[in-house]
Amino acid sequence: MLKVHSRCDLSCDHCYVYQHADQTWLGRPVRMATATVRVAARRIAEHAREHALPVVHVVLHGGEPLLLGAAGLRDVLAELRAAITPWTRLDLRMQTNGVLLDDELCRLLVDEDVRVGVSFDGDRAANDRHRVFAHGGSSHDHVRRALALLRRPEHRASYAGILCTVDVRNDPDRVYEALLAESPPRVDLLLPHATWDNPPPRPGPGPTPYADWLGRVHRRWVDEGRPMSIRLFEALRPGGGGTEAFGLAPADVLVIEADGSWEQVDSLKTAYHGAAGTGFDVFGQSVDEAARHPGVAVRQEGVAGLCATCRACPVVDRCGGGLYAHRWRTGSGFDNPSVYCADLLRLIDSVDAYPRSVRQPPDAAPADDLLDDLATGHGSTATLALLAATQLSITRALLVACEDRAGSPAAWELLVHLDQVAPEAVRAVLEHPFVRQWLVRRLDSSARPAVDPLPALAVAAAIRAGVPAAVHVPVRADAITLPTLGRLVLPGLGESAEVTVLRGGFRVRGGTAERTVLLDPVELSAGWRPTRDVSVPGGWLLIEDGDPYRDCYGQPVAPRLADPVARALGRTVAEAWRVVQRDVPAHAAALDGGLRAVVPLTPDPVRPLRSATARHAFGAVAVTPHPDPETMAVLLVHEWQHAKLGAALDLYDLVEPGQGTRIRVPWRPDPRPPEGVLQGVYAHLAVTQVWQSRAASTGGDASAHADRYLSWTRDGVDALLASRSLTAAGERFVGQLRHALEETRVGSR
Ligand code: SF4
Ligand code: SF4
Repeated sequence: MLKVHSRCDLSCDHCYVYQHADQTWLGRPVRMATATVRVAARRIAEHAREHALPVVHVVLHGGEPLLLGAAGLRDVLAELRAAITPWTRLDLRMQTNGVLLDDELCRLLVDEDVRVGVSFDGDRAANDRHRVFAHGGSSHDHVRRALALLRRPEHRASYAGILCTVDVRNDPDRVYEALLAESPPRVDLLLPHATWDNPPPRPGPGPTPYADWLGRVHRRWVDEGRPMSIRLFEALRPGGGGTEAFGLAPADVLVIEADGSWEQVDSLKTAYHGAAGTGFDVFGQSVDEAARHPGVAVRQEGVAGLCATCRACPVVDRCGGGLYAHRWRTGSGFDNPSVYCADLLRLIDSVDAYPRSVRQPPDAAPADDLLDDLATGHGSTATLALLAATQLSITRALLVACEDRAGSPAAWELLVHLDQVAPEAVRAVLEHPFVRQWLVRRLDSSARPAVDPLPALAVAAAIRAGVPAAVHVPVRADAITLPTLGRLVLPGLGESAEVTVLRGGFRVRGGTAERTVLLDPVELSAGWRPTRDVSVPGGWLLIEDGDPYRDCYGQPVAPRLADPVARALGRTVAEAWRVVQRDVPAHAAALDGGLRAVVPLTPDPVRPLRSATARHAFGAVAVTPHPDPETMAVLLVHEWQHAKLGAALDLYDLVEPGQGTRIRVPWRPDPRPPEGVLQGVYAHLAVTQVWQSRAASTGGDASAHADRYLSWTRDGVDALLASRSLTAAGERFVGQLRHALEETRVGSR
């Protein structure tokens, strides 16, 4: 944290810099001199180089950093970049009160890739209770104007979020609504700084007003589907990862004051005069020397660095004794629980007691279990079954939404009837990967509407169930598609045809055409193009080259293959499946759990090896029909990773929404959005495991491939963790991928 300016244009009465015990600001220069910035930047660079750090986070702080003006800021950023970027990635942040933010500064911050947090305490009454100018005037309109500037699409990439200090005299609902109205990517709710010597105000009769206030906001947030990220609540969940204020993660913040002094965390200024001091400065001491200061070192010790009460506390792993500064008491120093101890205990209880997320499916395993299991790199068969079940739930929900706008009540009634008398037949049809694609296109008002899917789905299910029925089915391009069964192409059918389900088959009449198709026993009928399947170790797999909704991969799909070509592809896929069993059995089990169809892509001599998955087509992967099973095995594993993670992303937010962040990765020339990088590292982790398994038996090229994928995955994971673009669940997931990667690496030695 770099204190580039030590004065402020506001005069907040809750400010720990100016209004609390520490008054060292009075002896500090108003702004950090360029020479000091340069030495500080060199110290950071030296530390990054010596420890081979993948990233360093630098937060421009104050006072108020915007008092530097655009030119001053540009100079500071140039010094930092020149010294640090040759050695590591530089993640730049700024914490500001926003009052001085204007278009020019926003453009500068976007150009320089600086992400900005704004201090804002909520609605006008709440904000102006403390956050005022020296003359007592309101800052509310100034800060809202700054937030509106950051929300603009051209500045949004620099909008990191809002930092809000809680005052229990404020109305929690109004504060919540005011924060939500600013569409922040993330909100930090902070307890006001206090110690045992200066306890927080506790108006009212209750013993835990802060837990009660935050509990009210938490319930509202959960009820509304967690419409924004609130770090406090995400961090407090079991395994939520913690923050500087919660949990047992080692402290990783050092402050460089405007005069170049090394200091401990800023919040210590609330404890006593000089509490944050170390006696060191950047001119004389390195980062490592400053970090060895006892006040910093004790916050690296986890539970061992806490008082006896905290060490015995049942929620110590989540609370971590609260913010270090809040433990201060004259006499016993920091060897105490937090002055907010009772509130913290109660808050953790109330977060646990209230449902975690309205998006969580009712019978799902706990989120952490599912994500933790996927973070092993493959996922168990139980997790795959759960993902498949939730995908089916989504398809059923889309089906209900389609029924609202469909004009086929007879088809709907038939489907409902079949769901009662032959649920397995309905399930088999709805699990077909391209049914969801069909429903989504039907519901997408921005696209040319797809034909009504309900009649074809009902007929397909009735045929599978052997239940007699007659339904009018829309015709598209002289054809009727019956998911999982095949496609009838019959010129002259008109726009709609009556399909009658018979014993062992069906009859179609429409326009000037009529055809009977017998499926059991099978008879060849002109125009009928049945689906073709292949036996694989996990059961049966469709070679899907007929469903019109398979064109969802952003790449041309092959037209129906000739029978010998389809059989050859089926043999390659089956053999590839056995190769996956040989190389990475855990991944083969995951394939067994959900892969139902392979879609052939159009061969392209320029790019002979292509493959793809689609978010709305769980259960299918698309590949170019490559003849080599060893190569096909890698494609299957790679794409199935995307399918699994896509299904998990339907359930859990792993990436912060609404950010314009782009991340450079070694496997693509163009910077990628965080979700793309997440997909990339998940797929590459599995491919690393395949090549490492092969390298163990063959060495040679396999070792080189394994090393390349390992390095890509590691760099991608580090870049993601450094990007600050993940939710708390996302950070936990990617952190575990890093762990899985290290295990993979160690296991391969
Ligand atoms: S804006 Fe921040 S630094 Fe300035 S007085 Fe308020 S709390 Fe203190
Ligand atoms: S709840 Fe209280 S006792 Fe438990 S870890 Fe937190 S501060 Fe310590």
